[in-house]
Amino acid sequence: MTAQTLNAPITQDVLTLPRKAVEGGKRNLIGLTRPQLRAALIEAGTSERQAKMREGQVWQWLYHWGKRDFAAMTNLAKDYRALLAEKFTIELPEIVSKQVSTDGTRKYLLRINGGHEVETVYIPEEGRGTLCISSQVGCTLTCSFCHTGTQKLVRNLTAAEIVGQVMIARDDLGEWPEQGAPKNETRLISNVVLMGMGEPLYNFENVRDAMKVVMDNEGLTLSRRRITLSTSGIVPEIARTAEEIGCLLAVSFHATTDAVRDRLVPVNKKWNIATLLDTLRDYPRLSNSERITFEYVMLKGVNDSDEDARRLVQLIKGIPAKINLIPFNEWPGAPYERSDWARIEAFSDIIFKAGYASPIRTPRGEDIMAACGQLKSATERARKSRAQIAAEAGV
Ligand code: SAH
Ligand code: SF4
Repeated sequence: MTAQTLNAPITQDVLTLPRKAVEGGKRNLIGLTRPQLRAALIEAGTSERQAKMREGQVWQWLYHWGKRDFAAMTNLAKDYRALLAEKFTIELPEIVSKQVSTDGTRKYLLRINGGHEVETVYIPEEGRGTLCISSQVGCTLTCSFCHTGTQKLVRNLTAAEIVGQVMIARDDLGEWPEQGAPKNETRLISNVVLMGMGEPLYNFENVRDAMKVVMDNEGLTLSRRRITLSTSGIVPEIARTAEEIGCLLAVSFHATTDAVRDRLVPVNKKWNIATLLDTLRDYPRLSNSERITFEYVMLKGVNDSDEDARRLVQLIKGIPAKINLIPFNEWPGAPYERSDWARIEAFSDIIFKAGYASPIRTPRGEDIMAACGQLKSATERARKSRAQIAAEAGV
């Protein structure tokens, strides 16, 4: 990565379609927060007096009932429905393909405006289901073990495209009330993780607004404790995440010395381990959450020694934490190998004995390249150069 990329985080102004972008003169209602929705309705001619009620009604149709057509919003007067249809659209990404793994994991390839593609993964588990969503097409960062990192950033996703991933997965799983979603039983999508393509904290405003929609208790109703945002360690945005989103945080830690982390997660050159840990110490208090997840990818001979495990425990002392060990998921041309199982278990033992939960993440959907860090749209041609990746990885 060039120094310039590191110093100039991509902002939504540069890469996202303008918030007021309109398709054929119409504005998309999906992804607007409640205040934004209300303002849009007023702008379209709704009286100030009725705006709050209309906002509530439209919101419910969109996010509780999952309706995509103004004509179906039957508690609104016909004229008002016509007005909405004239001014607005209800637009979601489109499913290009769906693959289902032998373990039940589903991977969706979605097409968004501009013809770009992103991936979303649904992971069913005993008693819960996790949807892994993307925040960008590609990524500006170049973590050397990550497939997405080999793809250039194409653009940030809009809030509509982020919320849209949840809605589309619900469509496919049949989880809207009228599709016969079971009441009072475990929800099919019970958790959302921002662990797909992209660095969510380099698309802060859109991710925040999308999560506000997802967390609202009259629509998709996922509580903030069921949403986990994973970051490579964009320090200046971490306190904001606690204050403005309040979800759980996972950090791609992956190494116990700056020399190794510089190679694996090059953004470490900007915010090193000590700086990152300082910021993380405040997160649980600021977000009123229990603990931070430290993600740690197990790379054979690179970061998986007993000494690493002991250093890790020392480093995070005092931070309420869980350490999630991720066996490396290979992808074509990857410059690393997965640590042996016995090594991963020995590493996990040391952490566990030090008093931390240290679950080993079972790779899911490997047969369809849906596992962590394997996402990358196959049709997307923009690549970082091999030289750039190799230089960052020090290989
Ligand atoms: N950009 C964010 C979120 C997306 S990646 C971040 O970096 O945190 C989600 C998780 O998968 C991160 O912890 C990432 O480091 C990890 N990951 C990436 N590539 C991987 C691979 N090939 N095998 C295992 N984990 C990987
Ligand atoms: Fe981007 Fe996360 Fe992959 Fe790093 S691990 S390249 S931050 S998606």
